[in-house]
Parts: sequence; structure tokens; C-alpha cells
Amino acid sequence: MLTGPALVQDVAEAACWQVDLSHVRSLIDTIAAGGEWADWVAALLHGARIVDANRRSLELVGAPSAREIILGQPVANFCPQESWNALAALIVAVANDPTHAVRAQAVNSFMLRDATLTVWGTPGAADTVWVQVDGEIADDRSFWAVRASEQRYRRLIHHLPGALLQVDARPMGAVFYQLRAEGVTDIVAHLDAHPGLVEQACAIVRVTDANGGAARLMGAGGVADLIGPVAFIFARTPETAHNVVIAHFEGRRSHVERIKLETFDGRLLDVELTVTFPTPPERLDVTLVTLEDVTDKLRTEAQLRQLQEEHARAARISTLGELASSIAHEVNQPLAAIAMNAETSLRWLQRDEPNLAKVEQLTRRIGDSARHASEIVQRIRGMASRHVPEPAPLDLNAVVEEALMFVCHDIETRAILLSVRLDIGLPRVLGDRVQLQQVVVNLLINSLQALAGVEKGRIELATGPDGAGGVGFSIRDTGPGIAAENIDRVFEGFFTTKAEGMGIGLAVCQSIIAAHGGTIAAANHEQGGACFHFSLPSIPA
Ligand code: ADP
Repeated sequence: MLTGPALVQDVAEAACWQVDLSHVRSLIDTIAAGGEWADWVAALLHGARIVDANRRSLELVGAPSAREIILGQPVANFCPQESWNALAALIVAVANDPTHAVRAQAVNSFMLRDATLTVWGTPGAADTVWVQVDGEIADDRSFWAVRASEQRYRRLIHHLPGALLQVDARPMGAVFYQLRAEGVTDIVAHLDAHPGLVEQACAIVRVTDANGGAARLMGAGGVADLIGPVAFIFARTPETAHNVVIAHFEGRRSHVERIKLETFDGRLLDVELTVTFPTPPERLDVTLVTLEDVTDKLRTEAQLRQLQEEHARAARISTLGELASSIAHEVNQPLAAIAMNAETSLRWLQRDEPNLAKVEQLTRRIGDSARHASEIVQRIRGMASRHVPEPAPLDLNAVVEEALMFVCHDIETRAILLSVRLDIGLPRVLGDRVQLQQVVVNLLINSLQALAGVEKGRIELATGPDGAGGVGFSIRDTGPGIAAENIDRVFEGFFTTKAEGMGIGLAVCQSIIAAHGGTIAAANHEQGGACFHFSLPSIPA
């Protein structure tokens, strides 16, 4: 523990260490007697250990883990090299002075300006001295503060759960310097002409430190196995090394990419790689590489996508159920036309003088109707089948018109007034035709249902620019609207207020619109009834 003068110094707010000299006693005796000892200053300061530290010195290196950092460490680790000679000389003098006089010396190094180093001993403890530093040590840039923050940084990295590698990319900096001197500005073209440079980078850029997380991820025996060229990171994805070299040359702050990583024990992982290059005043030898194992995340995402697709399919089938009477009517129309035209055609043939021109005309109409029926069946099949989204440039107006075909019969038979305002000349959107049709059909079905029992019901559809460069669609009905307490819930899966409802129609609409990079919202119209609006990003013309 600190005694005597140290306590006094604690009040004086100076940093103070108790130092054990037992391991360097013979060195001190040799030097004090005028003997030779190779590199004695460094040897002395590395052998002299800190055994206790006062509150001020702990504060300087950062509580609360500071005590652990400091205790047991060589004095050399906490003294700037410029002051080594002064400190070593003071220690030797005090350690050999039976009077234990206090000795002090002003030191001036760039990290420790105008400071005073004071060393003293106590009777009866020949191998113990106290070292005190007073002056601008409280400056954040002081040697101790910098050193402590480095220590904290290293400890932090080593205990981080993720995988982190510290890489020295300076050798490539030197290569780039040379290339620039030779006039190279387009690194992409240069790499095309000199593909060997990427391989060279993988060999000369080295991992200099890593944490336990990185060793575990790589299936390595320990951190030491990772120290060396970075090539192992890019073994499966040389194109990523290529991209990292480009990012480095172009002075980008960081580069992120999903890669396949082969571990030392032969596993193949999906990993998100992030490379962060240093920018001054950061240390140029510290490029940080993090590796995040996303294998499970990707698997879960794939499962989720499949579930969503199945969910959407169930919703489409339930939509088709709702549309049964419309569909039956639609298919019936061309079938009835076919039957009628075939009968008329037969009659023309059965005449004494068959009118072949009429028969030809009718047969052509029969062909047209059959094709029309087949188109309807295909459309329905498209809706019901397991559907893999196929994004393509689309005219949203055409999507709306096709969707209307599914419900037009219902609208007509129920004498609902339909108003459609489609803005011609809208930019195209990138999307899946069947999915977007499903959104519009679902919204239409909801409006039709909301109009059940409503006299002179009206549905208004419109497309137009959404005011933010995208394309918007809106639908409004004159039904009862959405109860205020439900307005935030209608897009939740399985939320329904209908006795026979499934509550997935709007949830599916929302996930389809979100997958297209758009947004959808529900509201009540000021003159009554619900309105829904979605907008989608457009493709630049
Ligand atoms: P479902 O139609 O099976 O109930 P949805 O997800 O399509 O499932 O709709 C969820 C809920 O949103 C409906 O039960 C209803 O309460 C409300 N809703 C949707 N559209 C309208 C509308 N046009 N008018 C009033 N309420 C609506």
C-alpha cells in the first residue's frame, strides 16, 4: 500500500506508483558501482514492476479496469521513452541512497510537457521506491492517457463477441503511392491489365492482431493462427479482394460485402465482411476487418421468404374464392358466344345454298372467343399457381385495368358506380405483374365488401404521380370507413372485423408493396368511406 509521502501526494493530485525493484536489484548494484550492463535503462525499466497505484494514476488510465491494467506491469510501459534515462537514473540513485532522500527532475517530452518526476524510498524497504509524476499529466494527450486508451481499445477488441481482425494495409499504401507516381488514376483499368496485383495484396497485407471471436469463427486453434497474410479471408472470393483493393486505392472509408468464407476446419460460411480503412489521425497501420457470420440469418430469411410466398398464395386462393362468381361469369361469356356462333354457323351450312362467307365470319368469331376464354383461364391460373416473383418494367395503369377485369362483373351486377382516372404518361415501375394485380384486386374486393348493403355505392380509382418522383394508386369507396381504433391495425396479419374474414388481404398487400420498395397507407375520406393509397418508386425514364 502507499505510505507516507505517497498519501500526501495523493492529496496533491499527482499520479504516483509504488514500484518493486527486487528483480533488478543486481542490475542497480552493478550500475551504481560504475559497472557495465548492456542497454541497462531499458532492462531496468522493464524489470521494475508497478505494485500499487494511487487514485489519480488510476483515473489517468481509466477506471474501473485500470488497476488490473497497471498492476504487475513494467514501469517502462507507463513512461514515455524520452524520459526513460531520467527515470532510470533517479531510480538507481534512490535505490542506493541509505538516506532515502527524495530526488526530483524536470522532464520534457512531447507527451509530458513541463512535468516533474520525483522518486523516493522508505527505510526498511530497499527494493521499493515510489515514482510520482506531476505536471501536465492530466492532459488527455499525455503518454499515460494515450497508452491507457490503447490498452482499453485492445481489451475491448479482445472481448468483443464479434470477429475482428486488425490488419496492416500500409504495404499496399506504398504500392499505391508508386502507382500514382507513375500516373495511374483508374485502378479498375489497372487491375484489369495487372490482375497479379490483387494476389500480391493478399500476400503483403497482413493480419497483425485478432480477437477470440475471429479465432472461433475461423475454427482456428488460437489467435496466433490468424496472424499473417490476409489471403485466407479471400480464398473463396478472390473478386472480393479485388473490390477491397479498389476501395482502398480510391480512399473509401470502408467496404462491405457478403462473402463465402472457408474456415480452417473446412466449413463454408456466409459472412458479412466489413473493411474499415484508417483516416488520419487514426493509426495508419490499423485497418479493421470484421466478419459477421450470417449463415443462420440467411437460412432464416430464406425460410421466411418461403413462408411469405405460401402466405401470399393462400391469400390469392382466398381472393379467387371471393371472385368465383365473377370468374364463372367471365368464362361463361365467351363460351356462350362460341355456342351461339356455332349454332348460327350450322344453320347457314344447312341451307340449300350454304352461305360460306357467313360461316367463315362466324368461325373466326368462334376462334376469337375461344382464345379469350383461354386467356381468362390463364390469368386465373397465374393467380392461383405457386408464383415466383418476376420483376419487369410495368405500366401501373395496365395492371389496374387487368385487375378490374377480375371484379367488373360484381361491380356491374351490383350497380356500383365505378370511376377510374388513370394518368397517362406515368413513368414505369419495376415490379411483378401478378403480385401488383393482387394488391389492386384485394383493395377492390375490400371496397366491394364495404359497400355491401350501401345504396348507390361508389368506388373511385386513380393513378398519378405521388409527388416524390414515384407512381401512386388510390382507391376510395363510400362504405362505412374504418373505425378510428382499427386504422393502425388493418395491415396486421389476421386482423379482421368480418365474420368470414381471414385478415390476410391487407397484410399481403403491405408485404408486396414493401418488397417493391413502396409504401401503403389506409385512411378515412373526409366525406365518408375508406381510402387506401400506395406508391411505388418509378424507373428513371
Ligand atoms: P379481411 O378482408 O379478410 O378482413 P383484410 O386484411 O383485407 O382482411 O382487411 C382487414 C380489415 O381491414 C377488414 O376486416 C376491415 O375491418 C378493414 N378494411 C379493409 N378494407 C376496408 C374498407 N374498404 N372499408 C372499411 N374497412 C376496411
